[in-house]
Amino acid sequence: SMRKNADDYVSPSELSPGLLDLHSFDTELLSEVSIPSLYEGSLHNQPARGKSFDDSEPYLAASRLTSRVRNLPENNLLKSFSGDKERSNNVAKIKVVVRKRPLNKKEMSKKEEDIITIEPNSNALTVHETKLKVDLTEYVEKHEFVFDAVLNEGVSNDEVYSETVEPIVPLIFHRTKATCFAYGQTGSGKTYTMQPLPLKASQDILRLMRQTYRNQGFYLFVSFFEIYGGKLFDLLNERKKLCMREDGKQQVCIVGLQEYRVSDVEAIREFIEKGNATRSTGTTGANEESSRSHAILQLAIKRSIDGSESKPARLVGKLSFIDLAGSERGADTTDNDKQTRMEGAEINKSLLALKECIRALDSDQGHIPFRGSKLTEVLRDSFVGDSRTVMISCISPSSGSCEHTLNTLRYADRVKSLSKGNNSKR
Ligand code: ADP
Ligand code: MG
Repeated sequence: SMRKNADDYVSPSELSPGLLDLHSFDTELLSEVSIPSLYEGSLHNQPARGKSFDDSEPYLAASRLTSRVRNLPENNLLKSFSGDKERSNNVAKIKVVVRKRPLNKKEMSKKEEDIITIEPNSNALTVHETKLKVDLTEYVEKHEFVFDAVLNEGVSNDEVYSETVEPIVPLIFHRTKATCFAYGQTGSGKTYTMQPLPLKASQDILRLMRQTYRNQGFYLFVSFFEIYGGKLFDLLNERKKLCMREDGKQQVCIVGLQEYRVSDVEAIREFIEKGNATRSTGTTGANEESSRSHAILQLAIKRSIDGSESKPARLVGKLSFIDLAGSERGADTTDNDKQTRMEGAEINKSLLALKECIRALDSDQGHIPFRGSKLTEVLRDSFVGDSRTVMISCISPSSGSCEHTLNTLRYADRVKSLSKGNNSKR
């Protein structure tokens, strides 16, 4: 055995808290990094190379590492790892945010009213629903909702980013898979909200790769596809039809999906624009059709074992942005057109399955009902392990959208109800 004497070995309980974090948090990362390079404290500025340490001896290696790191002038390595761990625990596992858009010209010209009130600096909102009594006199029914955050119409896309995705970005360097959804009726602002997020996220990811994780063999990849009528289409490859397969380890694999390596934000911007232009457009008008598809943009962080470009890279973490189909489309199940009915049924199924999956994530039941729909099957690997979910529910403020708005808020409420009752930090 490599274990030469008792001094070389420490039990997990003897390890310093920082090191325990490091061990439990990122053993896979550690196992890819040679101990000599860690010894030199060079994890931050040198590609990891050399012999990886024996998995059966993690504590031996860890104890050597502790003693060496303790003696380093600056204890940067442990600090950065335990800092990430803390951050990881402080980022909610599920976060539900509502964003209200301003009234648009069309709504104003129709003299529709803003029926959503939000108290300044509060995470509650009230819907003022006008109803008719049996004698046809009007009265207003108030519905109050509380979420993790409520973003009023003056809130910019930058602020939406800081409130939702920004805190998650550093975690995906540590095997976290995160998913950000935009939910709401057509015209409520899903695409407006979603489009800038991957751009800002990739900006931060690329910056981390240049600074904190410089020369450590991390690469950023982008892919973009849509689910339309239960089928997958590559938005970065001429809407090529794709198939999903599951390997023996129950990892989902989308066969043929084009993934592009990106190293600057401009390239990401072009891919996003290209993908959006490729989204389903049909005879009834562009907006009509794209509202029936879920668009999924994924940023994947991969790492090559020895830091060289030529060696295959392994997936480290993933950040998915999902511009969901218009929530009202799920109700198209009584439409005259058979195709529309079927699409409506599929959308309805996927939004219900999504809600159930997110709810299951936050309960202890262990079983996550992925199989409910294509959307949830595709997202399966983002729901297992260390995952984060952000739901941005987009609402229109207008009286004419009251019913859809209430449906959106009730859906969001169902998604967050469990996480609210959970009193842990997550
Ligand atoms: P969806 O994707 O949900 O169908 P869009 O994102 O296309 O809706 O938004 C519908 C229209 O409203 C667009 O013209 C968009 O520019 C505008 N809009 C949406 N949200 C906002 C907002 N927060 N501020 C200003 N304009 C918005
Ligand atoms: Mg849209």
